[in-house]
Amino acid sequence: MSRTITLLPGDGIGPEVTAATVRVLEAAGADIEWESHVVGAEAVALGDDPLPQRVLDSIRANGVCLKGPVTTPVGKGFRSINVQLRQALELYANLRPVRTIPGLPGRFDDVDLIIVRENTEGLYSGIEHQVVPGVVESLKIITEKASTRVARFAFEHARQNGRKRITAVHKANIMKLSDGLFLDCFRRVAEDYPEIEADDRIIDNMCMQLVLRPEAYDVLLLENLYGDIVSDLAAGLVGGLGVVPGANVGDGVAVFEAVHGSAPDIAGRGIANPLALMRSAILMLRYLGERQIAERVAGALRQVVVHDRLYTRDLGGTASTNELTEAVVNVLRSGEVEMGRASIA
Ligand code: ATP
Repeated sequence: MSRTITLLPGDGIGPEVTAATVRVLEAAGADIEWESHVVGAEAVALGDDPLPQRVLDSIRANGVCLKGPVTTPVGKGFRSINVQLRQALELYANLRPVRTIPGLPGRFDDVDLIIVRENTEGLYSGIEHQVVPGVVESLKIITEKASTRVARFAFEHARQNGRKRITAVHKANIMKLSDGLFLDCFRRVAEDYPEIEADDRIIDNMCMQLVLRPEAYDVLLLENLYGDIVSDLAAGLVGGLGVVPGANVGDGVAVFEAVHGSAPDIAGRGIANPLALMRSAILMLRYLGERQIAERVAGALRQVVVHDRLYTRDLGGTASTNELTEAVVNVLRSGEVEMGRASIA
């Protein structure tokens, strides 16, 4: 394998977890040439656009990007780079596997969810205006096109990965037109996949169900805002934001990133958990068809986290980002990676 991949280290804990992930991929034998770019506030400080055109060109040309978190200024300033990237590259499906890591202290030991979030519209369309002083309007856009393609993505993913059931999550009892359209599209697509059970839940009920018995669910399909919120909720069921990976997928282009944000409260302290981005990199390797290297990385993570129980502080351990990374690199270099056992990713 020899590939060029766009790398966006991001800010906050981004540079720490991306450097750690790049080291692990190198140690696993991935022959990757990285095209690294600065975006967000750091690009602005250099007199550039927050999302320079050459970054979009690089991702389009390479087809794949590994991305650290990028801080979005609250209230004013530039629009979220994360949202802009998803919209500009039409990365319409956000895939977030949420699975219990054996041995980790947590409330549940058998969570195995796949969250599919619509990534391009809903309340993230960014269409807001002031009607009169003191009154603002924010538009939620739901289209048949986007709802249908993300539903199809979810069913295809379920079919290819042997998943049995998809639950669409909505509030169509209140937002009858918008969430109603999302649900109709889901039901229409479901007809093409008779072997996969298709049902739905109202978002508030879904949140309660997830907290009570997350093991009862398989694949969840949500529009943008619900997907954002439920992803963080689900991360909390399996050890927190430090462990949950993600992929933003469009037609012929994909950006892999952790669910977590830039975590400014712990940035620069060397204690960030790099597992979420490392697991995102495993998704990336699988997407690229590099199964062997993907399983090698997964095996090394399993050795260090599940067997040796080396945890960063967010998981109740004491390991630094570097110590965890070193341990994973050492397992990979030793050549003694156990392949194909109960998976970490
Ligand atoms: P965003 O709005 O950008 O998604 P957020 O508000 O969800 O960000 P995060 O930056 O993801 O917030 O962080 C939320 C909390 O989780 C913080 O207290 C942070 O310290 C913790 N956290 C997030 N990611 C990690 C990580 N990789 N390792 C350790 N702690 C983390």
